[in-house]
Amino acid sequence: MLKGKAALVTGSTSGIGLGIARSLAAQGADMVLNGFGDAQQIEHLRRELAAEYGVRVLYSAADMSRPEEITDMIERTTAGLGRLDILVNNAGIQYTAPVEEFPAERWDQIIAINLSAAFHAIRAALPQMRRRNWGRIVNVASTHGLVASAHKVAYVAAKHGILGMTKVVALETATTGVTCNAICPGWVLTPLVQKQIDDLAASRKIPVEAAKIELLGEKQPSHEFATPEQIGALAVFLCSDGAAQIRGAALPVDGAWTAQ
Ligand code: NAD
Repeated sequence: MLKGKAALVTGSTSGIGLGIARSLAAQGADMVLNGFGDAQQIEHLRRELAAEYGVRVLYSAADMSRPEEITDMIERTTAGLGRLDILVNNAGIQYTAPVEEFPAERWDQIIAINLSAAFHAIRAALPQMRRRNWGRIVNVASTHGLVASAHKVAYVAAKHGILGMTKVVALETATTGVTCNAICPGWVLTPLVQKQIDDLAASRKIPVEAAKIELLGEKQPSHEFATPEQIGALAVFLCSDGAAQIRGAALPVDGAWTAQ
């Protein structure tokens, strides 16, 4: 379905981003991976994806907290794959603390990576999508773009912000073949969430498995994690012709978290 298209997924060396990158590559899209991690493991991943799906896979080490590296990544993607049709803004980090104890530098870092990075990437990628009159921008927001939780002031602010950005970009591209939407996952078991489970287990002095059940039970009525593959499947659908009139939407994949 996506043969001949070129995709960039930020933060795709792990978790949800990797799930989305795999799903898009499985549909034939050439791919640029981005994110941090062990250089050898990333190179292994790059080769594995290319071999498994018969697509071109490149890697960018760009730091999403640095606007100039983001612009450079978009330019290199376009030069390396000849084009950029699908942009998935996924890189994100978390930090939890009560607002009055929340370190200001953590606020700046989360706003930069979880919110501003998407602005810089969209700004740089959109002109060529307009020229070809086809493009897909998928922002990975969160249930925390729709509702709040205590101790996540920067994350919740950034995720609410990215839903606003999604709507503006959707309006500005409404009469074109470019769409912009957001996916709002609930709990997905990735390293980002594993850290929160480990913190909960330590603070309550309970086993990790019990902390997992407690975390799900508090927010996610299905009592099951969503998976990176399920998020990837929705990203693929948003890239399909069937989704051409889904514009400016915030689509939850959250086990009924935000139905409450
Ligand atoms: P993860 O920690 O598994 O992956 C994060 C990815 O972002 C990694 O590839 C990491 O290297 C990359 N990254 C971090 N900082 C970066 C930077 N400065 N520059 C470039 N890359 C950077 O986390 P995840 O759970 O897969 O999260 C991915 C996205 O999904 C985030 O935006 C997160 O907010 C969102 N999300 C996650 C969940 C969940 O339950 N896991 C729920 C809702 C939304």
